[in-house]
Amino acid sequence: MIDLPSTYESSRERFRSSLASFSDRWLDSRLESFPLSDSSDLTIDVIVANANKQKEKLFIMTTGLHGIEGYVGSGIIQLFIEEYLPKFNPDNTGIIIVHPINPHGMKYHQRVNKNSIDLNRNFNNVSFEELKKVNPHYESFGFLLNPNRPLKSPLFEKIKFLWNVVNALPKGISLIRETALMGQYRIYNGMQFGGFELQEETKFMMNLYEKSVKDYSQILALDIHTGYGPRYQMTLLNPPSHKETAEETARRFKVKQVAGVNPEEFYSINGDMTEYLYQMLNSKYPNKKFYAGAFEFGTYGDSLWQAIRSLRITVLEHTLRWFGGSESIKNWIQKEYDELFLPSEKKWREKAEADARQAFDGIFDAEGFI
Ligand SMILES: [Zn+2]
Repeated sequence: MIDLPSTYESSRERFRSSLASFSDRWLDSRLESFPLSDSSDLTIDVIVANANKQKEKLFIMTTGLHGIEGYVGSGIIQLFIEEYLPKFNPDNTGIIIVHPINPHGMKYHQRVNKNSIDLNRNFNNVSFEELKKVNPHYESFGFLLNPNRPLKSPLFEKIKFLWNVVNALPKGISLIRETALMGQYRIYNGMQFGGFELQEETKFMMNLYEKSVKDYSQILALDIHTGYGPRYQMTLLNPPSHKETAEETARRFKVKQVAGVNPEEFYSINGDMTEYLYQMLNSKYPNKKFYAGAFEFGTYGDSLWQAIRSLRITVLEHTLRWFGGSESIKNWIQKEYDELFLPSEKKWREKAEADARQAFDGIFDAEGFI
């Protein structure tokens, strides 16, 4: 079974030392480290391995965009290196692996970066002023999403949250879901904040994409996430601009579960990184062949109760960060939050590994990488 690191530092160490697995066959390979501006001990690390002869195919794998999800991401990187890297052809194939995009979030087991911004809502092409109009119902759900007070005991907060959900229900489940997940650009200390400007992690990635895709004629990009979808099942997410239907992608890649990022199949979001890459490639390089998608390893599950549980811990984790709370709630939140993005169960981890393997087999084969 893939081994998941227990700290950000040990994960970084393992990632850095895995450069050796590239350098014996990729002559032009290196590790690049980008320290965050105000904490030099937190770095975005990148392994770059360029094709030895013709730059034809480029595989980009990114992890830890949502910090805490970088632990499973780290396991998937190791799986790739051990089982698939030997099958790649260094003469015509380049590889870029990023671990993690959000080192602050990974170190402190949170999804957001140090500015409390969800980076997967920050990859925007339009002005942030314009984005203030997004998610018009957000404030009307303030009682549910942003309690704005120190937290009490786990029992009190569980009852209180359920009471808030019951009060929100008349507005409709789909509106609650949409409002809670799509991101917002008005309240800096509110849940699901997408920022008032591009973040340094975002700019780093935009720049990396820009300079690395240029020379290659075919791009395959996969971004690794955990948290949403059915438990014990990886969902491959097609970005909104992707032309194929979920069924077509599933058939082509022989992947069991595929969904499009849209309100019917998943949910709609702004500032999605994969969508950003997709649109950039589409508009600047219409002649390049490419696929960009995300792996989402489901954790809690997709029943209504699990959706409520997932929203509950998301709200409480955010509130704790801004307003604090009792020792007992801190411990409970940490455990519950880790289970949402980094499940401890052996069976879960084994299935995640099996699903990743199946998807890698199908995608690399269909895209001609192995
Ligand atoms: Zn994620």
